[in-house]
Amino acid sequence: MDTKYDVIIVGGGPAGLSAAVYCRRALLRTLVIEKDYMGLGMIAAADRVENYPGVPSVQGYDLAMTMHRQAETLGAEFLEARVTEMETSDMGFLLKCRQHAPLSARCVIYAAGASYRRLEVPGIEQMGVSYCATCDGAFYQGQEVAVIGGGDAAFNDALYLSGIASKVYLIHRSDTFRANAAAQQRLAGRSNIECIRNAVVTRILGDARAEGLTYEQDGAEHRLMVKGIFSAIGRVPDTGIIRHREILDKDGYIRAGEDCITAIPGFFAAGDVRTKRLRQAVTAAADGANAAASAELFLRR
Ligand SMILES: Cc1cc2nc3c(=O)[nH]c(=O)nc-3n(C[C@H](O)[C@H](O)[C@H](O)COP(=O)(O)OP(=O)(O)OC[C@H]3O[C@@H](n4cnc5c(N)ncnc54)[C@H](O)[C@@H]3O)c2cc1C
Repeated sequence: MDTKYDVIIVGGGPAGLSAAVYCRRALLRTLVIEKDYMGLGMIAAADRVENYPGVPSVQGYDLAMTMHRQAETLGAEFLEARVTEMETSDMGFLLKCRQHAPLSARCVIYAAGASYRRLEVPGIEQMGVSYCATCDGAFYQGQEVAVIGGGDAAFNDALYLSGIASKVYLIHRSDTFRANAAAQQRLAGRSNIECIRNAVVTRILGDARAEGLTYEQDGAEHRLMVKGIFSAIGRVPDTGIIRHREILDKDGYIRAGEDCITAIPGFFAAGDVRTKRLRQAVTAAADGANAAASAELFLRR
C-alpha cells in the first residue's frame, strides 16, 4: 500500500489536535479528518472553560480554534470528511470517507469523541428539543426552560441558560448529581434554577413544537410547561466504524491505557473515545500527546 501519510487522525477535537501538534513536531506526515464543517470537537460548545491549565478563562470555541491554528501552523493537513469505514492490513490502514476518495496511512489515531445520547421518549423529535445550550440558548431569552440530566454537561447547560432564561428547571432521575462539586456550588447560588429530583421524563408535549414535558415522580405524573427543553443525559462513544468490536469495552469505548495503544498494531485511541475515568479537554489533549508518541515509536520500529 502506497501511503501518503504516516498518521491519519480521525477527529479534530482537543485529542486529535493535540495529537496533530505532537505528530508534526516529530515530523510525521499528518492528516486530520474532521466530519463537521468548522468542527473543533465538543469543547467548542462550552460557554466558558476555566479548568484548562495556563488559560484561566476562555470561551470553548476560542480555545479549540487556538489548538487548531497551532496544529495547522506546524504543518498538519486537514480534511473535512466523515470516515465511514476502516480497513486494516499488514501495510497499514485504508480509511473510506463519505464523498471523498479512500485515504491510507501507516498509523491511525482515533480521536472521534462521543456523541450526545438521545432521550428515548415520545415526542423527542420535535422542534424545541436541543442538545446544545450554547447553540440554542439565545432563543429562550426571558422564557422558562428545562434541562434534563445530572452530570457536568447538564450543569453546564443549566448555568449557562440561567443567564438567559427567566427560569431553568433541572430534572434528574436520581436523588444525587454526578456533576463536579464546583459546578454544584455555582448552581446552588443561582436563584432561578430549580432542581426536580427523582423525576423520570416520560413524554415531550406539543404538536411539532415542544411546549413542555411530563415526568413521573413518586408514582405520580406531573406536567411542566416550558418553551425550551435541553437534553444532557450522557454520551455514546463514536466507535460505530470499528469492525474489531473485541477492542471495545462494554459501553463501546476503545480499550487502551495511558499510552493509547490498542489491541490493533498501529491503531491508537485518544480522548473521550478511550476507556478512562475523566473525560475533559485536558485529558483529551494529554491522550493526543501520548498517542502521537506511541505512533512515532511504532513507525520508527
Ligand atoms: C457543553 C460542554 C461543556 C464542556 N465543558 C468543559 C470544560 O469546561 N472543561 C473541560 O475540560 N471539558 C469540558 N467538556 C468536555 C470536553 O469538551 C471533552 O472532554 C473534549 O472535547 C474531548 O475531546 P476529544 O477530542 O476526545 O473529542 P471531541 O471533542 O468530541 O472531538 C471529536 C471530533 O471527532 C469528530 N468525528 C467523530 N466521528 C468522526 C468520523 N467518523 N469522521 C470524522 N470525524 C469524526 C467529531 O465531529 C468531533 O469534532 C465539555 C463538554 C460539553 C459537551
